[in-house]
Amino acid sequence: MADYAVIQEKIEEEKSKLVEIARAIHSKPELGGREFFASELLSGYLEEKGFKVWRGLGGLKTAFMASYGDSGYHVGFCSEYDALPDIGHGCGHNLIAVAGVAAGVALAAALKGRSGRVSVIGTPDEEDHGGKVDLVRAGVFDDIDAAMMFHPGCSTSIYVESLACRDFRFIFHGRSAHASCEPWEGQNALDAVIQTFNGVNALRQYLKDDVRIHGVIPEGGLVPNVIPDRAAAHFIVRSRDRNYLMEVVEKVIACARGAATSTGTAFEVSESGYPYEAMVSNRVMADLFAESLKEAGYNIESPHREGLGSIDMGNVSLVTPSIHPVVALTDEWVPGHTHEFTALCDTDEAYHVMLTVGRAMAITGLKAIQDPAVQEQIKCEFKQYPAC
Ligand SMILES: [Zn+2]
Ligand SMILES: [Zn+2]
Repeated sequence: MADYAVIQEKIEEEKSKLVEIARAIHSKPELGGREFFASELLSGYLEEKGFKVWRGLGGLKTAFMASYGDSGYHVGFCSEYDALPDIGHGCGHNLIAVAGVAAGVALAAALKGRSGRVSVIGTPDEEDHGGKVDLVRAGVFDDIDAAMMFHPGCSTSIYVESLACRDFRFIFHGRSAHASCEPWEGQNALDAVIQTFNGVNALRQYLKDDVRIHGVIPEGGLVPNVIPDRAAAHFIVRSRDRNYLMEVVEKVIACARGAATSTGTAFEVSESGYPYEAMVSNRVMADLFAESLKEAGYNIESPHREGLGSIDMGNVSLVTPSIHPVVALTDEWVPGHTHEFTALCDTDEAYHVMLTVGRAMAITGLKAIQDPAVQEQIKCEFKQYPAC
């Protein structure tokens, strides 16, 4: 039997079990870092299928890696399985989880008797914390030659980009005083926060188009008749260009410094989230994936997507050639992170897309494993990426 037919046949053979797993994860949504049910279900299934499993990678209790094959070109499929508070699987990570597992099992079936390795990497806590950042730092992707995952959406794109992002907090320290009787005795920390926002808003007109800055005020005083001696601001800054992002971060910090000077307060700054890097899609891999998707009858309406969010797969894409295509679940527009999208991710059409993507990722992996020329092209393009 031809190798691609083996992939198709394996997915058909496992179809009902794979859909059962995706439905079970959907019906039991777990928040990031606490996906014990999903992690065990996915890794246990892979173990049954002959994969060797390591759990708790990178200090993350719900991360795992399941590998098949001992040597040769190493293809990795990333599975995400965290859900959102209240909304459940409104980002469709139940589908991402099982597409990665389906691709892993199908590619392992096609590997029999040939050199090559396939791993499924269980990458927890994408929504909140960026589990892949921990896994990259722990070296989990160091010996993977090509990494893939998909994200469900409402239109299909192959070359997906994202913004690099930094997340940080300012705390201003002033002096409290009676706001009416002796305001001259006070140093208003809330005013420093407000001046920081005003400074940032003035800055926006001088920034490049892809920059995004958004902030909130988690602390701003308790009652109006006491001048606040402490206030805090929390900002996220994003840009497609990592180096330019750092320039903008410095400008935002300068706004806070100026605000502290003008209000006579002191300020401290700390980075509070993980740095996300911009996603760089490997075009050679993306084209192979697109070919397989088109063979399955999919229309790729807008191949290029300049995504304006940030994803932790971006960090993976800087250490190993990667793709993160978005594939439509429906022709209608249903925004992500909503109850409507949650419902969509538990439908027959969504599970059909999940299995089709699993097949396309497995074929992409096999095309790379069996052709050294393709491996070389993937590597050559990767070498042109901006260094991290
Ligand atoms: Zn999401
Ligand atoms: Zn997501």
